Amino acid sequence: MGEAVGDFGLIGLAVMGQNLVLNMNDHGFTVVVFNRTVSKVDAFLDNEAKGTQVVGAHSIAEFCAKLKRPRRCMLLVKAGSAVDDFIELLLPHLEQGDVIIDGGNSNYNDSERRTKYVESKGLLFVGTGVSGGEEGARYGPSLMPGGSAAAWPTIQSIFQSVAAKSDDEPCCDWVGDGGAGHYVKMVHNGIEYGDMQLICEAYSLLKNVAGCSHEEIASIFAEWNKTELDSYLIEITANILAHKDEDGSPMVDKILDKAGQKGTGKWTVESSLDNAVPVTLIAEAVFARQLSAMKDERVAASSQLAGPKAAYKIGNKDEYIESVRQALYASKICSYAQGYMLLREAAKEYSWKLNLPAIALMWRGGCIIRSKFLANIRDAFTNKPDLLNLLLDDFFKQAVDKAQSGWREAVASAAYSGVPVPAFSTALSFYDGYRTAVLPANILQAQRDYFGAHMYERTDKPRGEWFHTNWTGTG
Ligand code: NAP
Repeated sequence: MGEAVGDFGLIGLAVMGQNLVLNMNDHGFTVVVFNRTVSKVDAFLDNEAKGTQVVGAHSIAEFCAKLKRPRRCMLLVKAGSAVDDFIELLLPHLEQGDVIIDGGNSNYNDSERRTKYVESKGLLFVGTGVSGGEEGARYGPSLMPGGSAAAWPTIQSIFQSVAAKSDDEPCCDWVGDGGAGHYVKMVHNGIEYGDMQLICEAYSLLKNVAGCSHEEIASIFAEWNKTELDSYLIEITANILAHKDEDGSPMVDKILDKAGQKGTGKWTVESSLDNAVPVTLIAEAVFARQLSAMKDERVAASSQLAGPKAAYKIGNKDEYIESVRQALYASKICSYAQGYMLLREAAKEYSWKLNLPAIALMWRGGCIIRSKFLANIRDAFTNKPDLLNLLLDDFFKQAVDKAQSGWREAVASAAYSGVPVPAFSTALSFYDGYRTAVLPANILQAQRDYFGAHMYERTDKPRGEWFHTNWTGTG
């Protein structure tokens, strides 16, 4: 069976698994590897892992026997039943104190269930978010582990060694019990949907309202990347816009405007609905992808449905470009405020003690949403751990106030021009709704009472006292 030489075991030698193994090897850990299609173990050892300390195993029994105790066995396989299947295969070969780690894009409900199940067998379970794709796995991912808290001391040093670093701090910390790690990864992905949609809307306004060329927009984004918007997604979008196809034309002009999605954005929105948290921007980002996917229907409608009669005229072009930047920044603040509202509510719902500043730090490096701005979020929750809403933090309060006139101009220009900006507009509506003491929900409550006798509370009576009016005077 072989000697127990392995510091860490990894099952699943597809792109993520291979890169994470090589990353761990670079940090001095001896990794034992296994894969369902066993021939891929030797192929990996003979090629990508040639000359490393990586050790191959050709059965689950051999894999477990080669690991030092407590065994740390990580799965990086397709999310879903493959994870449950491997847990069943591992269980007979593991002992008390050993840890099974799932690093796939699993649903947090599955991680919640698996933590209880694996703990019931006397072992420990960790469901960890892994972000940063192939490159992150190889050179430093953002890692968001949750599950059995007793597993954290066993995995902490290896996880924090291989994770990305931001200002010398690892982008990895313990997130919380059960499914908390995968929940935080899910919200990260939802925020990623929002950030991407916001950048698309800025591009659309610069192109369709300001009339900028792709070259101009590429340099505008490169400039924005030196401001509060400094982030990986702005940086890559500048590069994408500057990229030319073989014939010298902008590559983006050749790419079909039909977006795909794998479902983590949808999960975030589902959870926001379940928890009654208005995560409107991520929801609009998911809907925008769905609308984009209706390409043929949109093309047909484009020749039948009229837009505004007259073109909207911008004033000073540089000032307009700055308004679009302000709209992007303020909307992004609202999106993160909504994401954090959801995290706080989920923490209550599942009794997780989420470390909100640490989550901002975990997202600060290694992952797709990495940005300068996350340091301000970490500071906001460090300075005031019971901060009710990011929008109420002094730094963000002032930032949104400074940005709001440009933000309103950008959204108005879009409305006058007939250019869709669902994320910019929903963020502005959310901001205005959140800062409005009296909303028209009085009418809504009256309507509900009128047709369904659902009752209402009164402004001149204590909360919790319910009233009904006979609106029609009949019956
Ligand atoms: P993947 O294509 O999602 O999965 C391939 C791996 O899963 C292979 O090792 C494959 O084994 C195994 N597998 C598939 N179905 C199986 C089954 N029914 N039973 C047992 N094993 C099965 O690989 P990936 O892209 O490297 O991703 C791994 C995990 O990380 C996924 O959950 C993914 O969502 C997550 N993730 C991916 C990224 C990314 O950028 N790709 C980023 C973060 C997280 P065989 O070789 O035998 O087919």
